[in-house]
Amino acid sequence: MISLGIECTAHTFGIGIADEKKILADVRDVYKPKAGGIHPIEAKNHHDAVKDNLLEEALQKANLTMNDIDIITYSAGPGLPPCLKVGAQFVSQIAKKKPVIAVNHPVAHIEIGKFLTDAKDPIVIYVSGGNTQIIGYAANRYRIFGETEDIAIGNAIDTFMREVTDNPGFGGPLMEKLAEGGKYIDLPYVVKGMDLSFSGILTSAIQKWTKESKGKTKTEQDILLSNLCFSFQETCYSMLTEVTERALAHTGKGEVLLTGGVAASKRLTEMLKIMCEEREAKFYSCPIEYSGDNGSMIAVTGLLGYKSGQKPIKNIDFNSRWRTNEVEITWIK
Ligand code: AMP
Ligand code: MG
Repeated sequence: MISLGIECTAHTFGIGIADEKKILADVRDVYKPKAGGIHPIEAKNHHDAVKDNLLEEALQKANLTMNDIDIITYSAGPGLPPCLKVGAQFVSQIAKKKPVIAVNHPVAHIEIGKFLTDAKDPIVIYVSGGNTQIIGYAANRYRIFGETEDIAIGNAIDTFMREVTDNPGFGGPLMEKLAEGGKYIDLPYVVKGMDLSFSGILTSAIQKWTKESKGKTKTEQDILLSNLCFSFQETCYSMLTEVTERALAHTGKGEVLLTGGVAASKRLTEMLKIMCEEREAKFYSCPIEYSGDNGSMIAVTGLLGYKSGQKPIKNIDFNSRWRTNEVEITWIK
């Protein structure tokens, strides 16, 4: 059975085509703001502009036509309403009489990670530009064991890098590079029970930069920036590792799966690996190519739902606040 998946929750418009065993095509186009963070209407206009060509490209890559597609799946939330609307409208336009399955975006990040690795029942650490959740399966749902109380880790990183450099887009890779050789500066470490908060760290790091970079030479500023990047990473990634470890301990699960765009971080990966080794748990990371937003994760998850008895939806709609734990998981027995 062949599933076509559409991802459209935020910056990425992606189309993936997959069957039960493999990904047949994956194409995407990422909206990049000229300045500042994601502008929802600009992102919507971007998605509108690229969607038709991407569909054509995906079908061509898979060597298929729309007639070969058995089901249409799309990310129905959570996300930015104007972006979600583009996806829902596009589906209404192309589905004709094909079954349509609405997919929850974080659940799709989990399932693509399991699809592409040997992870079976992991504690999932889902870290991206818009989401930060520590999740595990129990009794028909993916339960959220811990999450951010304010902004997502990726958003915190991107905002910091925008404030202190002229880097307009994703700040993760640049922060990673600048952090090399840095020394630790104290930043607030905010874990509340199983939840996390990144906004205080962001504010504190920006304040330190504003205050301490004034009147400094370029070399001194470079050292300060390196120290701040290093400390930002050490603090936030330690917090994430701490909560993940506690989720492992509480559930007795033996696997960790890292996914979302921030899964590209070498330092976060290293910390989680060490923690897993100490606990004799297996560590998996979603391959980088599929750890950021993509259509294949939607196609794969929608197919799991459809084949396990989920009824196709009649109203093609979206829910910008759709929580991970609101989805009944029909495909795990
Ligand atoms: P996503 O929202 O899942 O598409 O992921 C995008 C987020 O991943 C952005 O916030 C990026 O800054 C972040 N990211 C990408 N590469 C890295 C990296 N090497 N280290 C930390 N964050 C990263
Ligand atoms: Mg995502």
